[in-house]
Formats: sequence, C-alpha cells, structure tokens
Amino acid sequence: MDCLFCKIINGDIPSSKVYEDDTVFAFRDIEPQAPVHILIIPKIHIKSAAEITPENSSVVAHIFEVAAKIAESEGLTDGYRIVNNCGDSAGQTVKHLHFHLMGGREFTWPAG
Ligand code: AMP
Ligand code: ZN
Repeated sequence: MDCLFCKIINGDIPSSKVYEDDTVFAFRDIEPQAPVHILIIPKIHIKSAAEITPENSSVVAHIFEVAAKIAESEGLTDGYRIVNNCGDSAGQTVKHLHFHLMGGREFTWPAG
C-alpha cells in the first residue's frame, strides 16, 4: 500500500521512534509545531477518524493510554494538546489516522 505512515511502521522510511507496541507506533513529527510534537498512529491502516468503527475503535482508546504515558515521559506536566485533523478541509495531509501530541509551549483556543 502506498501509505507514508505504513512505510514508517514497517521501517521502510526512517523515523525518530518514541514508542511501539503490538498495535501502536509513535514517532517525532518531521516538522515540529511545538518543542514536543509526536505522532501516535495505529499499526493497522485506518484512513481517518471518519473510518473509526466498532470493529477498530479499541485501538483509539489504546492510543490515548499511550499518549498519557508519552506525555509523562516527555515531562509535559503542565499540559499538552492532542489533535486529529480529519479530512482535507481540516488539513489532514497523510491519510493514515494519526494523533498529534504537542506540548512544551502555550496553546491558544480555538485552534486556527
Ligand atoms: P496532518 O497534516 O494532520 O495530516 O499531519 C501530518 C503530519 O505528518 C505533519 O505534521 C507532518 O509534518 C508529518 N510528517 C510528514 N512526513 C513525515 C515523516 N516522514 N516523518 C515524520 N512526520 C512526518
Ligand atoms: Zn497506512
């Protein structure tokens, strides 16, 4: 499959890995928008948040467990932001479900 993040999971494209288990992979964003900017993705190819179903949703719960662990290990004691861009108008550029975990600076709300 011609998917950038599937290739990163498989090791065909190098990444700065932060965490990996049977179902989840996390790596540093190549264009960080915050001092800590990590992408957390399911190992199964899900195109976007719009494709979450009763059959695959457990991996999303697990991603949020992993996010909390990573935030702690990155020292984000003061808070952090988890972002999902779903679809073109939201700015999703890679069509493999991913959650941006960002921290280490102040964030404004509402986001852009
Ligand atoms: P989105 O715009 O929500 O689809 O997010 C895609 C993210 O993937 C962007 O923040 C990019 O900087 C990031 N990205 C693209 N290619 C790579 C790569 N090879 N390694 C790490 N992050 C990447
Ligand atoms: Zn993929």
